[in-house]
Amino acid sequence: MPVTRRALLGLGAGGLAATVAAGVAGCSGSDRGPEPEPYCTSQLKLARHNSLKNATFVYDPDQQPTSFRFDRGFYGQLGTWLEDYLTLSGTSRPDQVWTYGSWLDGHPQCDSWHDAGRAFDLSRLVSEGAVQVSCRYDIWSTYTGTRLTHFRTRYWALAASLHLHFEYVLTHLYNADHHNHIHIDNGRSGSGLSSFDTDSVSQVQAVQAILTHLWQTPVPITGQWNRQTKNATGDVLDGTEVGGTIDDGDDHWRTFLRRSATRSKP
Ligand SMILES: [Zn+2]
Repeated sequence: MPVTRRALLGLGAGGLAATVAAGVAGCSGSDRGPEPEPYCTSQLKLARHNSLKNATFVYDPDQQPTSFRFDRGFYGQLGTWLEDYLTLSGTSRPDQVWTYGSWLDGHPQCDSWHDAGRAFDLSRLVSEGAVQVSCRYDIWSTYTGTRLTHFRTRYWALAASLHLHFEYVLTHLYNADHHNHIHIDNGRSGSGLSSFDTDSVSQVQAVQAILTHLWQTPVPITGQWNRQTKNATGDVLDGTEVGGTIDDGDDHWRTFLRRSATRSKP
C-alpha cells in the first residue's frame, strides 16, 4: 500500500535510494510470454548520474538531490524519451526529475531489471518548484474537478510517451505498488521503441485509460483486449497516414501513442 511504502521509503537517505526500490513488488516479472531474463550488474560497472538532460534527479522520499546508477544504454534512452516527451506534449523543460530509484542490488534473486540498472521509477517532473506532471496517483487522485482532470490528463499523456519508448511500463492501474511512480524498463524492448501485444495487461490498461481520459472515448478499463477497445483505437487513428487499429503493427501502435502524448492539456 502507498502509505506503507512511503513510510518505508521515508527511512531512506539519499544513498539508500537505489536499494529501497528492491522492495517494490511488481517491478519485476511479466504478464506474458518468454522474454529476456533480468540479471544483476555490479554497481562498480554502472555510472552514477545526478541529472537527466540537465534536470537534477531528486529522490522523492527525502526530496533531496541524489545520484543514481544506470546502464549506459538505458540512461541514453531515458534522455531520448524526455526530449521526445517535451516536444510531443509541449511541456517546458523541467529542472528536476523526481524518482524512487534506478539500480539496486538484487542479489541473490536478480529478478528485476532494476538489478541491471535498466529500470527507473519516475514520480514527477518539476520546473521552478512547480510540479509539471506527477506520477503520484496517491496524491492527485484525491483532487477534484478541473485540478483532478489536469493532473490525470498530464499523467496519461506522459504514460503514452513512456509506453512508446519502453515496452514494459507499469502505471497506477497495474497495482498499488505503482500508486506513487511509473515503472519503466527496457528489458523487453532493448534499444528499440516498444511494440504492442494484445496479451499485455499493462499495455491494454494504458490504452483503455488513454482512450477514456485523453480521447473522451470511455471504455471499460479491464486490461483485456476486446472489440470495443480495438474499435476506439481505430477512431483515434482514423484520418492519420497509417489508419487501422493499434494491433495492426508498430506504426499503428506508435502513431496512437504519439498522438496521445500531444493531448496533455485537458
Ligand atoms: Zn520499478
